[in-house]
Amino acid sequence: MGSASRKTFLPLDPVSFTNESKAVIDFIADYYENIEKYPVQSSVEPGYLSARFPDSVPYCPEPLEDILKDVNDCIIPGLTHWQSPNFFAYFQANASTAGFLGEMLCSGFNVVGFNWISSPAATELESIVLDWMGKLLKLPSSFLFAGTGGGVLHGSTCEAAVCVLAAARDKALKELGGWEHITKLVVYASDQTHFTFQKAAKLVGIPPSNFRLIETSFSTEFSMSPEMVRSAIEDDIKSGLVPLFLCATMGTTPTGAVDPIAELGKVTTEFKLWLHIDAAYAGSACICPELRHYLDGVELANSISMNPHKWFLTNMDCCCLWIKEPNLLTDSLTSDPEILRNKASKSRAVVDYKDWQIALSRRFRALKLWIVIRRHGLANLMYHIRSHIEMAKRFEAFVRKDERFELVVPRKFALVCFRLKPEAAAAEEEGGELNRKLVEAINSSGRALVSHAVAGGIYVIRCAIGTTLTQQHHVDALWKLIQEKAQALLINN
Ligand SMILES: *Cc1c(COP(=O)(O)O)cnc(C)c1O
Repeated sequence: MGSASRKTFLPLDPVSFTNESKAVIDFIADYYENIEKYPVQSSVEPGYLSARFPDSVPYCPEPLEDILKDVNDCIIPGLTHWQSPNFFAYFQANASTAGFLGEMLCSGFNVVGFNWISSPAATELESIVLDWMGKLLKLPSSFLFAGTGGGVLHGSTCEAAVCVLAAARDKALKELGGWEHITKLVVYASDQTHFTFQKAAKLVGIPPSNFRLIETSFSTEFSMSPEMVRSAIEDDIKSGLVPLFLCATMGTTPTGAVDPIAELGKVTTEFKLWLHIDAAYAGSACICPELRHYLDGVELANSISMNPHKWFLTNMDCCCLWIKEPNLLTDSLTSDPEILRNKASKSRAVVDYKDWQIALSRRFRALKLWIVIRRHGLANLMYHIRSHIEMAKRFEAFVRKDERFELVVPRKFALVCFRLKPEAAAAEEEGGELNRKLVEAINSSGRALVSHAVAGGIYVIRCAIGTTLTQQHHVDALWKLIQEKAQALLINN
């Protein structure tokens, strides 16, 4: 391309940057204004999009208006609206103005902070924010840079799991004397632990047959039994295996169960296992003093992770990982190619976050968590959590009052697990089929979205209250919708 045409080819000139960015912000603002008008769950058929778009690539530039029109006409119908206040499925993914501003700055600077020198502010702010967040959760100083540990932002819990498992594996293999011992290493979790840990164990080379799923049941409200963990460990030792790693969950995905961290920590300390705490969802709640007790015993863990992108007003993606011995993580993940060598890294006076994660390149994620904390303050962040918990209590009371329904497990956070009672479902086996139909009826109405889980062999409906925009009247409307659909199903049954 000659210099003449270069003048008309300006992918980042200040005028179009300003005008087009503003147009997109206006577009997003409209989207939020209208978000309740869309069916929460998209109802498009697979392949719907390719039928709408030409399969040829444009040769000439297209105007932004045309593109935004297509976003409006073709993309939005294919969205499930996670930011809708009527979204009660899975676990929410909080967006906020502050989180969005942080994303904008991150995207605006577009720096790649793989090591300290590649953007000192990106590294240093990340360390500061991890200490802030750790202090909000009252983590012991052994997890903080201010103490003897440290933290890092990953994109997801899955990445964090891979990294801590790799650190634990390498420490153990070093002690055992070589890679050939990898087939002896055993990882423990419960049948409620997020499937991401099984995947992570496989990725770091733990034989799938060495992944122990400790069974849970109604009798312990689906939390992991320390006695069962102990006996599984003892059995494995007897068989000549080497217990490596236990994942305890604070707020499980199916039902919000909490594993007894302090008691599990005694077992892992005794048998020298790595204890990781997965607090992806419920970790955020522990900024409230009245909920912090669920993390009691955290001082016995080797690492802990939680996702501010779930319940902490931080737009996707953001996972905090703290580790007591960062050197074990960096021993496992350090790469030292010539092109990245520099004085600061050599002096070991700085953190090079490339050695704390899988990828080399990394986004400046700390900006958004930093802005989220500063713009809300602990006061509003606690209000955010507490208001959802209040709404969940209200929903729980609705379920209790209607004799056709029952709560399946006690609520701890803002996830309510309930179902139509088997008696109400009469002819249906265990009520599973009718509850499945009820979920289908709620979701296909487009007025709200809930999801389901199976716990102890029982199909449960999950109502996870926690989107940024959800208010009490949305919860009231959800319950009315559920009653209406249940009524229709029970009459037709
Ligand atoms: C959501 C969730 C995960 C997975 O988080 P990603 O960041 O999507 O990998 C893991 N564990 C628990 C308990 C979760 O709720």
